[in-house]
Amino acid sequence: MGQAITSEVNNPQKNHLQFFGGVGVIGGNKICLTASNGKGILLDFGWGFDTSRKYLNNFMDLRGSEVLFDGMTLQELPPPTGYLAGIYREDLYANKDANLLARFPFETGKPKTITEVLICHCHSDHIGNIEKLHPDIVLLCSETNKLVLEHLDETTKSDSFFAGILKYKSFFCQDPDTDEWSCEKGGKEDIIRRKLRAITPNTPVTCAEDGFEIKFMETDHSMPGAGGFLIRDKQSGIKVVYTGDIRRHGPNRDQADRFIQAAKDFAPDVLITEGTRIGRDEEKDEFPSEPAVEAELTRVFKQVALEKSPKLICFECSNKDIWRLRSFYHATISVGRTLVVGAKEYDLLKRCIDAKLLSDIDYSKLRVYLPKKKSGLYAPTDYIQNNDIKNVFKKANSEIPVKTYKTGPKKGLPKPPAVYETIDPTKKFGIKAEEIRENPRQYVIELPYYAMMEFCDILPPPGSYYITSKSAPFDDEQEIDEKKRLNWLTQFQFSKQNRKEIHCSGHISRPDLEQMIKTIHPKKIFPIHTTQSEEFLKMGLDELGIEVILPEHNKSYSI
Ligand SMILES: [Zn+2]
Repeated sequence: MGQAITSEVNNPQKNHLQFFGGVGVIGGNKICLTASNGKGILLDFGWGFDTSRKYLNNFMDLRGSEVLFDGMTLQELPPPTGYLAGIYREDLYANKDANLLARFPFETGKPKTITEVLICHCHSDHIGNIEKLHPDIVLLCSETNKLVLEHLDETTKSDSFFAGILKYKSFFCQDPDTDEWSCEKGGKEDIIRRKLRAITPNTPVTCAEDGFEIKFMETDHSMPGAGGFLIRDKQSGIKVVYTGDIRRHGPNRDQADRFIQAAKDFAPDVLITEGTRIGRDEEKDEFPSEPAVEAELTRVFKQVALEKSPKLICFECSNKDIWRLRSFYHATISVGRTLVVGAKEYDLLKRCIDAKLLSDIDYSKLRVYLPKKKSGLYAPTDYIQNNDIKNVFKKANSEIPVKTYKTGPKKGLPKPPAVYETIDPTKKFGIKAEEIRENPRQYVIELPYYAMMEFCDILPPPGSYYITSKSAPFDDEQEIDEKKRLNWLTQFQFSKQNRKEIHCSGHISRPDLEQMIKTIHPKKIFPIHTTQSEEFLKMGLDELGIEVILPEHNKSYSI
């Protein structure tokens, strides 16, 4: 297990800062900050990519019944001791043998110190472990992050990181009278909805039982709603700034700059900052900004339009990067084509457009790709297990009554009714492979590696275009996927010169990072979300009176 927690723990007079993830790695941020009143908050509670990379693969994940204990053994999850006492769901502890409970001691009951988890944005490396938290810990996030959480809740599979965040199904049943956990596994009647407090950006609110005053400000990152926090202890006056993931070259650069200015004016004692790109050589193939990405896409698409024979344009980008999808949309419209996206992407775009976060996309011009599932006949029942497709088409066809068939109770607990959704791909915006196959000149389609089997139906004309619009592979597993992607593209005759990489990062460049730190000028800085935190020691920050502290996993710091 991780190193012992220092003796300073549980001294409520001081502010303590403790890092349980994001230390020496990119992502998996899990930070505990305590207030002078003895209460505390979590800053994100994300899943560590490093744990996946080191131990897991598609065929091996933490076991559902043992998820806490597997997670703690692999040091993905911190033990629920000290300030973290009681942070996990009690149903995940229920019915465990004494040996296991002795190895990972916990006290029955509610969180002792932690009152809220503050969410900076909704990537899995920031929220992917929230599903395991005790429901008394309130999710505190902006309205936009709430919108993204609702999108994730409705469109992801039940076993994904995101499925248990807004609500979850208790693993075991609990007797309402005695609070005893039975051996029966939970059912739909045991669905627990978490408390969520949506806050308005730029408006101070209090949390940690009035221990902290906090302000959330939106910044710039490859995700809608991303932002950072300014936090002030109401008794001690200690001030902490947490950047979350940030950049200064995206479409929301002005927001990032306002955050940096506000952080400077705040005169913080502590800055917790990301450093994803600090040690990387400037990525030569990357474009400097999102507008530059859009300009290059438009240039390439116009070039394709000049070709005599019909060519399909396919691409891959991060499916939550609405700004990148917008760049593809604009480039697509500029050549009179139609953008085809997956159901998840459509759902997120539509929500963001409805919430006026995006004003320059007409979603009636988007089409949603309908892959073959189960029978391969595009039958509505084929999509019952695909929450993304089911929800998108259900909303669009809401005038068609939804038929409900009760499956009836089986042995043991009564089963919830199975819902038969009416999915009609011919309605409004669904598109099948054959339509694209018959008129490839008309479409630009999002087709990531994991969906490339669709090429077997779409049959793109030889010499079609494939645009990779995401970060280059950074580990062995991604390298292997990259090789497979190339095999697919070769198989379907996407020529080498027609494979393009057009991307800019979601993270701040080293020069911008240095400038940001020097502008904010905190007393202390804790670099996280980086594999090369020692690079922060080479910035000459000590000469400016800024102490660089490279945090250690699990260690508690008095601030
Ligand atoms: Zn991150």
